[in-house]
Amino acid sequence: MKERAAQLAAQLAERDLDAMLISAPENRRYLSGFTGSAGYLLITPERSVLFTDSRYTEQAANQSPHFQVVQVRAGWDWLLDTLKETGVRRIGFESENITVGSYNRVLEALKEDEALSQASLVATAGITEELRILKDGEELTQLQKAIDASDKAMEAVCPTIAAGMTEKEVAWKMEVAMREFGADCISFDTIVAAGPNGAMAHHHPSDYVIQAGEPIVIDMGAQVGGYCSDITRTVVVGEPDEMFHKIYGIVLGAQLTAIHTVRPGLTGEECDALSRDVITEAGYGDNFGHSLGHGVGLVVHEKPWVSARGKDALQAGMVFTVEPGIYLTGWGGVRIEDIVILGEEGATPLSKAGK
Ligand code: ZN
Ligand code: ZN
Repeated sequence: MKERAAQLAAQLAERDLDAMLISAPENRRYLSGFTGSAGYLLITPERSVLFTDSRYTEQAANQSPHFQVVQVRAGWDWLLDTLKETGVRRIGFESENITVGSYNRVLEALKEDEALSQASLVATAGITEELRILKDGEELTQLQKAIDASDKAMEAVCPTIAAGMTEKEVAWKMEVAMREFGADCISFDTIVAAGPNGAMAHHHPSDYVIQAGEPIVIDMGAQVGGYCSDITRTVVVGEPDEMFHKIYGIVLGAQLTAIHTVRPGLTGEECDALSRDVITEAGYGDNFGHSLGHGVGLVVHEKPWVSARGKDALQAGMVFTVEPGIYLTGWGGVRIEDIVILGEEGATPLSKAGK
């Protein structure tokens, strides 16, 4: 944990920054180990400071022994005093994780303080997110626990789904099972989309009553130690129709093609194409509207992007989802999603639930 803050501090000089103010909750947790819901970090090459309110100061001191914990009080003196002590001038902030209101108030406070009138706030984006792309052993352990919880829930609950149950009832069974199999909580709102609802990739579970023979898309995740899992299975109660056999076969083929052929060095966009080409050749390219996958960790959707916006090369050690789908209005959808880890020789699925 101590090395993570040091890694960030080591990058400040090359970015012409004296300090970095961290406001994004996941980055705060990643760099400090502090799991409370409120606080900021100030990281300089010499010092690591964690600002939080009285609810959390004791917890922060326990979880982040390598940070100096400073209690936040009304106003901005807690920040201004620390900035004066450290003598920093150019302070990077996370432009994608601060409200315009907070930014303006900090700027105002700096201007009004004579000793800090030379200090400036510098917009940055993605610095800590870049560090988070490659997971260390402790992170992978937590992630695997989250994956195991959602795998086991999927395998335990799917055989119990029956015609006549509603989407909401299935979602609740899945969520209960994930908790019973070790999840701290769910990592995002469970998706259960039966029949025609499956044509909407992110349908919210409703009172729709599941019918025999129609596809049911179930997309869900567990969270353990802050790390998120994400898995999708498409199942049918009773006998599926011809269409299901055909579409499921294409989607599974597209998924396995990407899992078996992706290698370090391919970009996210090129990996996306591995599955997309299979679906396009089968004639359903227009029915696969979303990207193939995304990185997953402290946030359900994070770098690397396995999509048209993934211009960087995938590296060994990266963890991401592979989730092709085909969606047909009026009939439904099929999506299959697993989390894989990329090694030098290729990808290994971390999720093991049957498909
Ligand atoms: Zn998912
Ligand atoms: Zn996903």
